[in-house]
Amino acid sequence: MTKEKLALEVIERLKKEYPDAGCTLDYDEAWKLLVSVRLAAQCTDARVNVVVEGLYEKYPSVEALAEADVGDIEAIVRPCGLGRSKARDISGCMKQLRDEHGGKIPRDFDALLKLPGVGRKSANLIMGDVFGEPAIVTDTHCIRLVNRIGLVDGIKEPKKVEMALWKIIPPEEGSDFCHRLVYHGRDVCTARTKPYCEKCCLQDICAKNI
Ligand code: SF4
Repeated sequence: MTKEKLALEVIERLKKEYPDAGCTLDYDEAWKLLVSVRLAAQCTDARVNVVVEGLYEKYPSVEALAEADVGDIEAIVRPCGLGRSKARDISGCMKQLRDEHGGKIPRDFDALLKLPGVGRKSANLIMGDVFGEPAIVTDTHCIRLVNRIGLVDGIKEPKKVEMALWKIIPPEEGSDFCHRLVYHGRDVCTARTKPYCEKCCLQDICAKNI
């Protein structure tokens, strides 16, 4: 099977397995996803979802967070780890949104990349989830699973995985496909235990490069 055909088959099977897969970070306004994505580095989404409640209670808008003392942001987000750098980036992001983008998240990949602490993974997530644009989010689950399944061959560097996937994943499928890989990576094709191939919906087509 070609990689393109394998990709289409994997997409269809994961759709059936996880029909409602979406982003596991909670947000009701686009700028909040930007904050949560930064906090999610080396932290669970569940913990981020709790910590941001306290942050937004005190600073409920882009402007309020842009004005906030960085040390105070750090104190609130510390449970997510890397508090100092995350607080600095969140503060810088909010100031940039306020000063250069009218308080809104820019609908432009390159502009997103200029925001403090925003790399390709986060920019793709925002393009996909906030704007419904084509997106490939190469997080740890995505990289592990696409290698195991055989959609890419031994590529671990996120940007290279992203570029390889752009060639075989239909653009409109990318964002949801990556969300579903997260679900599958947590439940079945796990990192810390042996993957549960015997109960995997991909087991007859997966290369099982484990
Ligand atoms: S068959 Fe095994 S290695 Fe392949 S995706 Fe499923 S759990 Fe992962």
